[in-house]
Amino acid sequence: MKQSQLFYKTLKEAPKTAEIISHKLLLRAGFIFQLAAGIYEFLPLGWKVHKKIENIIREEMEKIGAQEVFLATLQPKEIWQRTDRWEKMAPPIFKLKDRHRKDFALGPTHEEVITQLAKLKIQSYKDLPLYLFQIQSKFRNEMRPSGGLLRVREFLMKDLYSFHSSEKDFENYFEKVANSYEKIFQRCELETIKSEASGGPFTEVGAKTYEFQIPAPAGEDKILFCQKCEYAINLETAKIRNICPKCKGKLKKKNTIEVGHIFSLGTKYSKALNLYFIDKDGFKKPVIMGCYGIGLGRLMGTIVEIHHDQKGIIWPKEVVPFLIHLIQIEHNFRVKKVAEKLYQNLQKKDLEVLYDDRAEKTPGEKFADADLIGIPYRIVVSEKTLKKDSVEVKKRSEKKIKLIKIKQLPRFLNKILC
Ligand SMILES: [Zn+2]
Repeated sequence: MKQSQLFYKTLKEAPKTAEIISHKLLLRAGFIFQLAAGIYEFLPLGWKVHKKIENIIREEMEKIGAQEVFLATLQPKEIWQRTDRWEKMAPPIFKLKDRHRKDFALGPTHEEVITQLAKLKIQSYKDLPLYLFQIQSKFRNEMRPSGGLLRVREFLMKDLYSFHSSEKDFENYFEKVANSYEKIFQRCELETIKSEASGGPFTEVGAKTYEFQIPAPAGEDKILFCQKCEYAINLETAKIRNICPKCKGKLKKKNTIEVGHIFSLGTKYSKALNLYFIDKDGFKKPVIMGCYGIGLGRLMGTIVEIHHDQKGIIWPKEVVPFLIHLIQIEHNFRVKKVAEKLYQNLQKKDLEVLYDDRAEKTPGEKFADADLIGIPYRIVVSEKTLKKDSVEVKKRSEKKIKLIKIKQLPRFLNKILC
């Protein structure tokens, strides 16, 4: 992509309403645009990153046997009344009426809708287990959307639902999903803490649920974690506040961002919506369910909260908008020719390149934009580098600049990119 053609605009200053670092940087670097409070649009750079995150999640979901579906956003009121959640959801549901004055919800979540769908197939124990997931818009009528992409009113979420004939089968899969989540967050270069939590209006009282929390000052959650063992719990859920119930070690408090949540749903939805199966023993039983969510935008915001410096974003390599930022300095014939050729060659090797071909910008402005956008490798072509038949290569996360002969560049890139 040529930067002169790219639809984006960097800003010197973030708007005053942006308080946390990821919000400021994503706005300033031209990744997102705010339409209204808690409602964001993704520009090409932002959407590229969002899609990379989506693909990581999809790959990991498919590895644990989940099939992708796409459920409805407009959901009839009756289905929500059957689980007693039309009035009780928190944050509240966005509600609307159709032209016949019938009530609908803009789906804040999909437990009701997926349970209804699963009835299509599940009749006997032979139809279980079943794992279905989707990546789809959710709408939440938040009191106070905040923190840029961290708390919004409309966002894409991956939600996986599992259906089982026994508690034991559910527990095995629950562990599998927990491991899959660890992998997803590792691929985003995030270190998570798995903490015990409450399921709120989603599940039965006392059900097993875990949150995946990332320690960050901007986080709205607070967890208690043990300094000796792996025990961690959401402060809201904790009964004991200073001593670890597992090893008696000291508990410490940390601000965190919740990036994933996995729930045991038990039989709450299958009973309410009549999802039963005939077991091996011939008895009719309610299906046991689990539910597992990740908000994609929040994950993107969290990556920026963790991976940045004073100059801008530093994208982890699996979620980059582009891999290489090729920058042409001076716009004379020779520099332009070499840069153009390099751009073509890198693209032929299937490398994602953003080529800064803008003639009206100074080198200083180009470097500042490059640091703000956060592409991992910067290659500079200038009159000075061409005197030595070379280009400058710099990693966004390092200070060191290397002069590499143009002829040796393919080999050098092979080495660093593999
Ligand atoms: Zn402990």
